[in-house]
Amino acid sequence: MLDSILNEKAHYCSNLPYNIMIISGPSGAGKSTLTNFLRYYISNIYFSISTTTRSMREGELHGREYFFVSKEDFYRDIELGNFLEYEQVHDNFYGTGLCQFQEGILNNRFIVCDVDVRGHNSIKKFYPNAKSVFITTKDLATLESRLLKRQTDSKHIIQKRIRNALDELKYADAFDYLLINDNIEDSKEAILHIAKSIILLNHASKMQDLLMKYGV
Ligand code: ADP
Ligand code: 5GP
Repeated sequence: MLDSILNEKAHYCSNLPYNIMIISGPSGAGKSTLTNFLRYYISNIYFSISTTTRSMREGELHGREYFFVSKEDFYRDIELGNFLEYEQVHDNFYGTGLCQFQEGILNNRFIVCDVDVRGHNSIKKFYPNAKSVFITTKDLATLESRLLKRQTDSKHIIQKRIRNALDELKYADAFDYLLINDNIEDSKEAILHIAKSIILLNHASKMQDLLMKYGV
């Protein structure tokens, strides 16, 4: 029952024209760094802020990086069908708000979301014309050194994230783009190119919209 309500709600905007970029990749790969960069350079961007039960890190703000909620509130949102998708990642829950996507589409914005590899698959089911970028480092040692240098997680959590990285890599071939984030300037240029190319993608819903405006 809940599934069918969610399906109906999620499909509500999927026949309208949309530009969606899904970003995934192991923790420490540089997803936040590169999406923050995009937030400055693409004026029409709408970053989908997820809801999470993870504790807030130093420097993070409620409503900027995430909506930080208790487990009880997260479960309530599940019951209310408020998520387009949600997953348990590294022991915490993370969910993409349905309203966020709908608001972004209705306002003709370029939607960017950062979700895990399973979240990517769910979103692609609802929005098949969405394009995805898998971001990672050139090797595992670089990933580990970035997580250590970031100093936001304990050694135990870092080890867990490194183990999960190996799992996540198995799903990388389902992504449209692969970005090995080595030199940061090159990566910024690459993500900007990808974003601009997604904005210009043609698909049926965009064409229908255009024909309507032409009165055809
Ligand atoms: P994620 O969001 O994927 O977990 P972050 O964007 O937080 O990763 O990046 C992890 C750490 O690596 C941060 O401290 C960030 O400043 C650093 N970083 C990101 N990209 C690069 C890069 N190309 N070279 C060196 N350090 C980087
Ligand atoms: P972090 O705790 O480092 O911010 O994020 C951990 C992981 O959760 C990352 O892989 C990130 O992509 C994923 N994540 C963040 N938000 C969501 C979401 O709404 N849904 C899903 N499925 N994964 C998410």
